[in-house]
Amino acid sequence: MKTDIRNGFIDTIGNTPLIRIRSLSEETGCEILGKAEFLNPGGSVKDRAALYIIQDAEKKGLLKKGGTVVEGTAGNTGIGLTHICNAKGYKTIIVIPETQSKEKIEMLRTLGAEVILVPAVPYSDPGNYVRVSERIAKETPNSLWANQFDNLANRQAHFETTGPEIWNQTQGKIDVWTTSIGTGGTYAGTALYFKSKDPKIRCVVADPYGSGVYSFVKSGTISIEGSSITEGIGQGRITNNMEGMPADDAIRIHDKVALQILQKVLKEDGLFMGGSVGINLSAAFQIAKELGRGHTIVTVLCDTGTKYQSKIYNPEFLQSKGLL
Ligand code: PMP
Repeated sequence: MKTDIRNGFIDTIGNTPLIRIRSLSEETGCEILGKAEFLNPGGSVKDRAALYIIQDAEKKGLLKKGGTVVEGTAGNTGIGLTHICNAKGYKTIIVIPETQSKEKIEMLRTLGAEVILVPAVPYSDPGNYVRVSERIAKETPNSLWANQFDNLANRQAHFETTGPEIWNQTQGKIDVWTTSIGTGGTYAGTALYFKSKDPKIRCVVADPYGSGVYSFVKSGTISIEGSSITEGIGQGRITNNMEGMPADDAIRIHDKVALQILQKVLKEDGLFMGGSVGINLSAAFQIAKELGRGHTIVTVLCDTGTKYQSKIYNPEFLQSKGLL
């Protein structure tokens, strides 16, 4: 008899449902579909990249028994890595900017990671979380620097799993792919797969303010305007994972618009989503309205709102940011 038992945490990563967002689909006459990455066992899209990075390092002999994985992360990659490392007998040291939600920081500690909080400073500053994680990895014996921004195992995860899953779930009927960029792994890996199957699929970057990707796609140079309270997305440089990514267009979304759509899908669809999903769904909604009825737009539901209850779902926090 064929069973449907998954072998532990690792075997449970991926093969997530594709959810039709009813409210936005009905309003636009399009199919607006969200890849339910929040249903990964570590709770986010980053489980896929974390697994590929670990497996790639094991294959290359870079990670040995009893080793330590070191990473700089906005939280979700650290959470995915720590679950996987627990399951495989490795330790984790996670460097995270102190501006990230306390929910993610506390979760990392609960899972058993050694958590190092650093001030939020730009990549050019040696105190930046990514740069600190690289330094700690160099100083830690038997360790691996996961290096999610420039390690191409990250986008390979999406080229080999996220892209093909969506292709099969939609039977190739996709007009537009849009999602936001942190490392670029999700956007670029999936976009490269879709273009290899059908070059007519339009790939559009969804970008928050405070990020340089929008200007890069529009004009070829990075310039940064404004800021955003979203976490895990926005980028000020071209990472290795973004190198050569197909981008037919980019859309920039204001936090206020993203927050409104998060409330809408919570109240009308019962979906309780994280901040980056607000950017993604706003972009998908805008594209649907521009294209008109009958199109299929696919985006990513990266994680849930539970990680941000103290922030984007907290009226006092929103008031303090002038976003209520
Ligand atoms: N949304 C959230 C909540 C994230 O944590 C991340 C990863 N930093 C992203 C979106 C972006 O994913 P990627 O790193 O693949 O670009």
